[in-house]
Amino acid sequence: MPDKSARRQSLSGWGNYPRHDCFVHEVASQAQQRSLITSTDSQTLIARGLGRSYGDSAVNALNDVLLQTSRNRFLSLSETGLLRCEAGLSFAEIIKYLLPRGWALPTTPGTKFVTVGGAIASDVHGKNHHQCGSLGNFVQAFRLLTASGDVLDCSRESHPDLFWATIGGMGLTGIILTAQIQLNRVETAWVKQETRRTRNLTDTLDLFVKTDQDYQYSVAWIDCLKRGSSMGRSVVMLANDASVSDLPDRRQQKPLQMKKRRRKKVPFNLPSITLNRLTVSAFNGVYFRAHRDKESVVSYDEFFYPLDSIQSWNRIYGKRGFIQYQALIPKQNSFDGMHELLELISKSRQASFLAVLKSCGPADDGILSYLFPGHTLALDFPFKGPRTIELCKQLDEVLLKLGGRIYAAKDAVTNASTFHVMYPRLEEFLKVKRQIDPENVFSSSQGRRLGLIPT
Ligand SMILES: Cc1cc2nc3c(=O)[nH]c(=O)nc-3n(C[C@H](O)[C@H](O)[C@H](O)COP(=O)(O)OP(=O)(O)OC[C@H]3O[C@@H](n4cnc5c(N)ncnc54)[C@H](O)[C@@H]3O)c2cc1C
Repeated sequence: MPDKSARRQSLSGWGNYPRHDCFVHEVASQAQQRSLITSTDSQTLIARGLGRSYGDSAVNALNDVLLQTSRNRFLSLSETGLLRCEAGLSFAEIIKYLLPRGWALPTTPGTKFVTVGGAIASDVHGKNHHQCGSLGNFVQAFRLLTASGDVLDCSRESHPDLFWATIGGMGLTGIILTAQIQLNRVETAWVKQETRRTRNLTDTLDLFVKTDQDYQYSVAWIDCLKRGSSMGRSVVMLANDASVSDLPDRRQQKPLQMKKRRRKKVPFNLPSITLNRLTVSAFNGVYFRAHRDKESVVSYDEFFYPLDSIQSWNRIYGKRGFIQYQALIPKQNSFDGMHELLELISKSRQASFLAVLKSCGPADDGILSYLFPGHTLALDFPFKGPRTIELCKQLDEVLLKLGGRIYAAKDAVTNASTFHVMYPRLEEFLKVKRQIDPENVFSSSQGRRLGLIPT
């Protein structure tokens, strides 16, 4: 029986697919969460932050979901930039209050509407992975509410196995209550950006290789509908934190003042016919032509969160939603892998807006953490039922052949056997999970689908 404090609600991730009814609890206190976890009539549970994972990692069909967003207090900030906060605090709030004081997140995903707990559970990465890795490298410690109701302080020294199973562990080891994250000192709230257009995939990957050392941040927006000699043509953005002297004179007085940004909104789900090969191709063409090779100083928000300027942009995919497929290919196979993926997508005639390509550096020690040296490509496909699932399967096969993998925070359709091959340390994760949660109190729709719940 679901707890009476729960409301039954249809939930999905950001991709709006898949969608399931869950029993949702708004939890404010640790005591409340503890009593839900240890109560005998409780079903399985999963924590949920801001629901920005794309698939079903924060969804628990006909089971309990514990919303963490009201546990969102700042606890302390040391002189050296060690932030201690509750795990429901969002990156948006951290930026709002701490960037004007000269502290920036050490790495950030392409949206700031994520919670600290959700970001740790996915071990998120940003446009600087090639230089500094994923968030796990900057998490000093966290407090975890476990299935027994005990609260454990986890760090590299204390419960290290649990620490590294939780970083990237998709919420399946327990609930992160508070966390300590090392922030970076910055002089300004701006980055110095260089925009370069490339003609094709070879040029794009070459540019990454040549510039990885010199630029803290890099990202390429690939027009993935182009074929032949233009396949993989991109707009590449390379950037470094701007210093005060990089700013125009009028900005130098208040270099940490953030530029105000108006957010537009997609008011409702658009009809699914809005997006087709023609419209996407036209959009990609306009995007490519609108960007010239140039240097500019760009605000923090504009550079890191271009999509956040349109609220609810996921509605452009209509009611059926979309799949975000993120592929990682090891460095030695990057060109062949990306080429094969782009060929398959183009042949499938399933339109994807500009795809995002990033360069990746060394892995951290997270047992299920996603990235290792190579390149990662993120693509959006409007969900068209079995056709889209079949395309993802074909893309998975390319990854399996070339030693690549998908990203759990984006995944909605991969199966357990594929995931097991992609993540060779999975048994290690399951061992920790068995020890810390022998009754599988923590579970999610994704966890069951991907075989992350021991049997
Ligand atoms: C526009 C957009 C761009 C993105 N770009 C990137 C990117 O560049 N790089 C990247 O790495 N990711 C990216 N993401 C994915 C996003 O960063 C992750 O999915 C992140 O985990 C979302 O955080 P959330 O708070 O919304 O978590 P949710 O989606 O609510 O949950 C995600 C996972 O975290 C777990 N979780 C949440 N809170 C807790 C907690 N307190 N304790 C334990 N587990 C918890 C959940 O159980 C679930 O498994 C992007 C997403 C969007 C929508």
